[in-house]
Amino acid sequence: MSDDIPFNKNFEFEPDRPTPVAPGVRAVVANNPGPFTFKGTMSYIIGIGRGKVAILDPGPDDDAHIAALLDAVRGETVSHIFVTHTHRDHSPAAPKIKAATGATIYAQGPHRLARPLHTGETRRLDASADMDFRPDIALADGDIVSGDGWTLEAVTTPGHTANHMAFAFKESDLLFSGDHVMAWSTTIVAPPDGAMSDYMASLEKLSRRTEPLYLPGHGGRVGEAPRYVRHLIRHRLAREASILYRLGKGAADIPTVVKAVYIGLDPRLAGAAALSVLAHLEDLVVRGVVATDGPPSIGSIYRLVEPPLPAA
Ligand SMILES: [Zn+2]
Repeated sequence: MSDDIPFNKNFEFEPDRPTPVAPGVRAVVANNPGPFTFKGTMSYIIGIGRGKVAILDPGPDDDAHIAALLDAVRGETVSHIFVTHTHRDHSPAAPKIKAATGATIYAQGPHRLARPLHTGETRRLDASADMDFRPDIALADGDIVSGDGWTLEAVTTPGHTANHMAFAFKESDLLFSGDHVMAWSTTIVAPPDGAMSDYMASLEKLSRRTEPLYLPGHGGRVGEAPRYVRHLIRHRLAREASILYRLGKGAADIPTVVKAVYIGLDPRLAGAAALSVLAHLEDLVVRGVVATDGPPSIGSIYRLVEPPLPAA
C-alpha cells in the first residue's frame, strides 16, 4: 500500500527525553506508541533563548509525559500552549500544563464534526476525540502569535479534523504539520469528524507554501515538504481512481471496495480504511460522480453515475 509515497520511518527519539530537532525546537515524544500514533505523540518546545518558551501539542493525559515535559522546561517560563487538533493523543495534557505553568492555550477551537450526523449514524472513532478541550484564545487562519524570540503563523488545515491547525515557525522557516502531513504514514480522514474535500483543499494550500521542513504530530521530520505534499495529493487521487475503477465493475459496499483497493492492509487498520473509503465516497457523491440511496454511510451500496448520453 502507498508505495508511491516516499515515506520516512526513521525515528531516533527515546520516550519522554527532550531532543533538539531544529533551531529553537526541542521534541519530547510521549510513550503512547500504536498503529495510529506510530512511536508516540510528538510534543514540541519552541524557544530560541530557552528563557520563555511555548509548548505545541502537550499530548495525552499521561502523568509521566506531563512530568517529562515540565522537567524539560525546568527553569524556563512557558508562556503559550498551542494545540494542532483535538484528538486524545494531542490535547488532553493542555489543562495540566496550563495549571502548572500559567500558560495561555491557543487553538482553532473546540472539537467539532465536519458535517452533521446522519439519522441513525454513530461516530466510530468517537473515543478518539477530546470533547472537553477549550482554547483560551481561538485562532483564525493567518493569525500571528509571537513570544520571546519566536513567531508562529496559524494555518488552518481542516480534513483530519475540522479544527486542525498547522503552525508556521517563521524564524526557523518550518511548519508544525500536526497529523495533516506526516513522514511515516498517510493521514486518517474519517467522517464525520474529518472530510476528504477539506483534507485535499488543505493539502493544496500547503503545496503553495514554501517551508522546506515540517515537524509532524507523529514520527520524524518531513524533508522537501512541498514536494512530499504533492506526493500525498497524487496518492489520494490514485486512491480515488482505484475506487472508481472498482465501482466501474458494478455497485459495491464499502468492505468490497476496501478489499479491492487496499492490498496487504494491517488488519488493525481495517476500520480506519473503511472510514477513509467512506470519506472518498462522500466527496464523490457531492461531486455527482457516484450515487447511493440516502446519505452516504458506512453501510450503503455505491454505484457510478452513468454519464449522460451525448446529444444526437
Ligand atoms: Zn489526530
